[in-house]
Amino acid sequence: MLPVVMYHHINSDDLPLSNTDTMMDAHLRLIAQRYTTLFPGETSSSASICLTFDDAYFDFYHYVFPLLQKYNLKALLAVPAAYILDETNLDPEIRLSLKHHEIYEGENYKTYIPFCTYVELREMVQSGHVMVASHSMNHVNLIDEGTNLREEIVGSKLLLEEKLGMRITSFVLPFGKYNDAAIVLAREHYPYVLRIGNALNPSWNGIGGLIYRIKGDALKTPDTLFTFRKWFGFWLKTMIKLVKS
Ligand SMILES: [Zn+2]
Repeated sequence: MLPVVMYHHINSDDLPLSNTDTMMDAHLRLIAQRYTTLFPGETSSSASICLTFDDAYFDFYHYVFPLLQKYNLKALLAVPAAYILDETNLDPEIRLSLKHHEIYEGENYKTYIPFCTYVELREMVQSGHVMVASHSMNHVNLIDEGTNLREEIVGSKLLLEEKLGMRITSFVLPFGKYNDAAIVLAREHYPYVLRIGNALNPSWNGIGGLIYRIKGDALKTPDTLFTFRKWFGFWLKTMIKLVKS
């Protein structure tokens, strides 16, 4: 079974969607000891894991990217394309200063630059430690009325490919919400479509064409995710989803 883990913030006030930098350091050290980290599509073994970080907050570049280099790990970064600016010289402290709910308010993403920039994304991709996925254009709920699915799913891919000069092969569903039309379009344009759901995956084909992710935010200990009890729960959920699919 292939585990794919979903994380969001580091050191955010939004505690259910965050880990502290010291917890992430200890957690990633443990992962480096036990697992080989993969990008979507890479050959897996019994000791493989895929790490994914949603929303491309600047805290990823500031805290996680150095840890990926320190422990020689790979991670997939899900980027909401419309929020990404080209570059900035703004002080990191200012970029990290917003509360979670302020990040998406008004033009705060332009004033405080709380997301990674394209310069930072290119640097991380070129290091070999980070792969970029589309996380839609505007980070909207794809099942909301009036959502332009083509713009969110295909437009975001084209923009990221143009800005980064590389193929984007993964789409991470915002809020884990979707309908048939969204999935058909996403599967047409991406080999890998990821959601939430706290299940494991038999392979990169996922279950019913969707790759499930387990929740890695709000870790209580560095090995919270890997206790027998947790793992049994994930495994059981996987079996139920396989039977239903
Ligand atoms: Zn998101």
